[in-house]
Amino acid sequence: MIYRKVALIGLGLIAGSMAHAMREAGLAGRITGYARSRETRDVAREIGLCEVCDSMAEAVSDADLIVLAVPVGAMGPVMAEIASHLAPGATVTDVGSVKQSVIDAVAPHIPKGVHFIPGHPLAGTEHSGPRAGFASLFRNRWWLLTPLPDTDPAALDRLERLIAGLGAKTDMMEAAHHDLVLAVTSHAPHLIAYTMVGVADHLRRVSGEEVIQYSAAGFRDFTRIAASDPTMWRDVFLHNKEATLDILGRFTEELFVLQRAIRMGDGQHLHDYFTRTRAIRRGIIEAGQDTEAPDFGRIAGAAAPPPG
Ligand code: NAP
Repeated sequence: MIYRKVALIGLGLIAGSMAHAMREAGLAGRITGYARSRETRDVAREIGLCEVCDSMAEAVSDADLIVLAVPVGAMGPVMAEIASHLAPGATVTDVGSVKQSVIDAVAPHIPKGVHFIPGHPLAGTEHSGPRAGFASLFRNRWWLLTPLPDTDPAALDRLERLIAGLGAKTDMMEAAHHDLVLAVTSHAPHLIAYTMVGVADHLRRVSGEEVIQYSAAGFRDFTRIAASDPTMWRDVFLHNKEATLDILGRFTEELFVLQRAIRMGDGQHLHDYFTRTRAIRRGIIEAGQDTEAPDFGRIAGAAAPPPG
């Protein structure tokens, strides 16, 4: 056992997966949880996710680890509400997909004697809610931590041991750098998927059901990504605004270059470009971050899709 009592605030995909994995590996003495809606709390109780509490105060009292697993925009208000109920020496971590804005919103509410270690598991699916979680979600995935300069090494070491117990690998990063990296690897790709599915939706009105009926693998993968939780992704873009806009600006420039190559019949340019991008895919597979196997439905427990 690494923590005596872990409190999960928010009971969706990420918190649910943590609860299953912690229980399976015996990492926590007790696991309590709270979600804002009665409906979510009822479902969590029904499936035995954790000890579900009817107030945040009750969930966090005496906990030695508190995990904030709500949308990025809700982290600050949640932290403000639990601050006065935290036990001295406790650690607060979060799983938000954006780090700098979460630090700005949460850190001012952290009481003296409580540790705050921001984090982000690079694992997820397009499903959300308390039923979406599964124990193997984090297996062999990265879990990035963006500790603050005054982070207590012992508290950090303990959290890293929990993450290792969940099956993930940790890495440390500065928050602003994290946000830029994730804008490239996750946030901009999600926006592009949302856009492409939006384009097809417009086209559907022209071509009837053909877009759905004959949807090719590439488009199907876009639709999977574009089925991700709207609240979570709204918050990601609102809170990682600058990095996302920077990457989208670069993306638009590249798109125009490719558009021009197509218009001018510059096959050499297209071939060279696609050869370079193919090497990136090979690198991802070699790094163990995906498999060759097509898995457009992304069966739970199989290789995880692009995380938030
Ligand atoms: P989720 O399945 O949609 O669950 C979100 C939870 O947050 C629900 O329990 C929900 O409560 C609660 N919540 C929503 N809005 C709230 C608010 N305004 N105040 C308080 N509670 C609120 O989400 P998730 O996928 O687990 O994501 C949780 C966090 O992990 C997010 O910050 C996300 O950026 C990050 N993350 C997600 C992924 C991914 O792929 N999904 C990957 C890595 C990190 P109700 O059900 O009662 O509404």
